[in-house]
Amino acid sequence: MKQNPNELYPIGYPDLVDYFWSMSHAIYSIGQIAEILNPTSFSAWNDAKISKLVIDSRSIIDPEESLFFALNSKRDGHEYLKDAYDNGIRNFVISDEKYLKQFPDANVLLVKDVLIALQTLAASNRKQHDLQVIAITGSNGKTIVKEWLYQLLAADFDIVRSPKSFNSQIGVPLSVWQIENEHNMGIFEAGISKTGEMESLETIIRPGIGILTNIGEAHAEGFSSHKEKLLEKLKLFKDTGLFIYSPEYTEGLNPNELPGKTKFSWSLKQKADLRILFTEPIEGRNYVRAKFKGEEIECLIPFRDKASLENGIICWAALLALGYTPHEADLRLEKLTHVGMRLELKTGINQCSVIDDSYSADTSSLAIALDFLNLQNQHPKKTLILSDLVETGKNDQDLYTEIAALLKQKNLNRLIGIGPHISQSAASFEMESSFYESTQDFIDNFPAIHFNNETILVKGARKFEFERISKLISQKIHDTVLEIDLNALSGNLQFYRNKLKPGVKVMAMVKAFSYGSGSFEIANLLQYHKVDYLAVAYTDEGVALRKAGISMPIMVMSPESSGFEAIIRHQLEPELYSLDILKSFTGFLNEHTADYPVHLKIDTGMHRLGFEEPDLSDLLKILQESNKVKIISVFSHLVASEDPEHDDFTNHQLQRFTAIADQIQSGLNYTFIRHISNTSGISRHPAAQLDMVRIGIGLYGFDCGIANNKGLQTVAVLKTTVTQLKHIKPNETVGYGRKGVLPEGGTIATVKIGYADGYNRKFGNGVGKMLVNGTLVPTIGVISMDMCMLDVTGLNVKTGDEVIVFNGELTIAQLAKQIDTIPYEILTNVSQRVKRVYFYE
Ligand SMILES: *Cc1c(COP(=O)(O)O)cnc(C)c1O
Repeated sequence: MKQNPNELYPIGYPDLVDYFWSMSHAIYSIGQIAEILNPTSFSAWNDAKISKLVIDSRSIIDPEESLFFALNSKRDGHEYLKDAYDNGIRNFVISDEKYLKQFPDANVLLVKDVLIALQTLAASNRKQHDLQVIAITGSNGKTIVKEWLYQLLAADFDIVRSPKSFNSQIGVPLSVWQIENEHNMGIFEAGISKTGEMESLETIIRPGIGILTNIGEAHAEGFSSHKEKLLEKLKLFKDTGLFIYSPEYTEGLNPNELPGKTKFSWSLKQKADLRILFTEPIEGRNYVRAKFKGEEIECLIPFRDKASLENGIICWAALLALGYTPHEADLRLEKLTHVGMRLELKTGINQCSVIDDSYSADTSSLAIALDFLNLQNQHPKKTLILSDLVETGKNDQDLYTEIAALLKQKNLNRLIGIGPHISQSAASFEMESSFYESTQDFIDNFPAIHFNNETILVKGARKFEFERISKLISQKIHDTVLEIDLNALSGNLQFYRNKLKPGVKVMAMVKAFSYGSGSFEIANLLQYHKVDYLAVAYTDEGVALRKAGISMPIMVMSPESSGFEAIIRHQLEPELYSLDILKSFTGFLNEHTADYPVHLKIDTGMHRLGFEEPDLSDLLKILQESNKVKIISVFSHLVASEDPEHDDFTNHQLQRFTAIADQIQSGLNYTFIRHISNTSGISRHPAAQLDMVRIGIGLYGFDCGIANNKGLQTVAVLKTTVTQLKHIKPNETVGYGRKGVLPEGGTIATVKIGYADGYNRKFGNGVGKMLVNGTLVPTIGVISMDMCMLDVTGLNVKTGDEVIVFNGELTIAQLAKQIDTIPYEILTNVSQRVKRVYFYE
């Protein structure tokens, strides 16, 4: 089963979405809320009306009506109380008594557990409302199935649904808080990562209808067995009237262990209410035939990939289970559209960056996109191109006043509004702004509109077709792109953070363009996630990060003396690894400099760079004679932390390092940070965590110390497209040197990726394989500089079809094996001419 990392939201997971969120709707007085929460203590000030729940002090739109929850997730929410107060919030739920009297002019509820309070409040809002509630859980597809059901049912119901993939212990209560009187249907997703979590989600959602999408390997680590995971998930449905599932995913359970008064099953393999007979791709869509109530029925799912096919079948089953006729279901399914939840960050014209979100425009998704915009430091100016919002139930005046406040709070510099409604509300916006009646109007005027060195967020409702705008302002992307999933990268960071003892710092290795994955785009994310240090290999890399607005400490591992001036000018911190370089760096510092931060590298066995024992007395002498430099950290590098065979040597390195660091410490009158662990060191040698760890390849989804990288998410996908197809006659040859032969003849596809893009020549002649429409096909002939050919004989392939070079299914680890190298090399070899596109959900 293909694993979609973006579906995963374990508790405490610092996903930006949950963290940044504030959710509005229901209105309660603070007194009513106190009754619901039954706080240990309530320091009351006024009888505020609360419509919004806030969990981040930075995302506050309407402070008077907001209730701030000081959640302890990644950081202690109490640290942000003052911020929230300064931003105008006067209503707080806290668990630390200390703060009870801190704000005399505020309502403060003291509770035992802030998260439970948030959940209790949401559960209570759910109980107040009588509506049909569908809950969705499973390993993959939750968000797509939820969004598609919304598309399929919106004509018949007033639906409230989880925004984006809000499905965690925090996301679910924020979703359910949105329920209002006008709604007669709710569609919510729930995700868990360990036992015990589903019960609380069940009490909040209280679904009448349950859908299990599927069960994969995701998050198996939080459970003792597959069955345990399954049973835990099914707790969500314990009181449902209708349960929709596939027996293929509930194998091993007795019929009486399945929930739901009525059940509706679908299957491709066994007897079921909806028994799929066959599926067949036709022109980019999937035709599906099935048996239902003794008759053969059919539908067209307008997507061709496997995951969409399954999600489509689940939606089909749901429509039939809800009583729609097969004919009606087919009509609706055919109109399903792509769920545009992904924000794309790409390179724009005139030194701009473009964040593309041209598929939806409502207040909640706008707030999330603006947060992502705010994460970008690479340009001084932030611009938003926004269409009319499609919002029900609000008049323009209120809606655009709220939007204007939101834009102001997010420090937006420039607004381009497109559409009659936003244009009429022009007066609400105080920043630099211009307005156009329609997308065409904007495009007609485009030559006269200036963009330069700014980050541009393009956000429009589907009918405005903003993809036309985003095409105009984005640099043309060639056929081959490396897609980087920023959520997966955050998830991997958290995976390792969870393994650290309290207080252990993190240095993130972003050398070699973040292992090929990007530069400031990745650094911005890591800076946002508050890692303690970044490390690059060369001065130039550090300078580039500084120029892109990265302000956190950066260590440079190979500081060449010609770069000292740049190091100092950009406040970079050199790694000093020999007496020579120490002397030349201190010599370079001007005589008035004191305590310039530097790092000492110790050689404990790598024999690459670093001080050794005999150097120590001279080293200490220099350090004692001058205070020009200050040792911020002393570190070494493990040579085989991933390999159990060398664990003795790893321990030996650790001991040696400790002895040397102790010796340095004894000669200094201040302390420094000690670090030795790399990625596999973190996963395999807890004793080596010391004061800080250096995480490299693990961030990008690989750890040679963990079998099959279990628990890590795929960050990078390299893809290209079929440029041309050719029919080859028997014994004709393909490519340079006539190396490719098809004795029987056949069809080849030319794709635009060659060794200059990083696709090694060793992949030629069938050694390498790529995925074309889901089928693994071999290369044929040699790999050229810019292109190579694939043998697609017998397959249904067209020019323009997508070709995967590596992804979560065809992994970098497999590629590395094919040509006898390591994942590090495959990843860092993807050349800079391959455009990077960043995704964020
Ligand atoms: C690259 C590097 C790391 C990171 O190693 P990973 O195995 O990728 O985690 C750590 N320390 C130093 C000195 C490095 O050069």
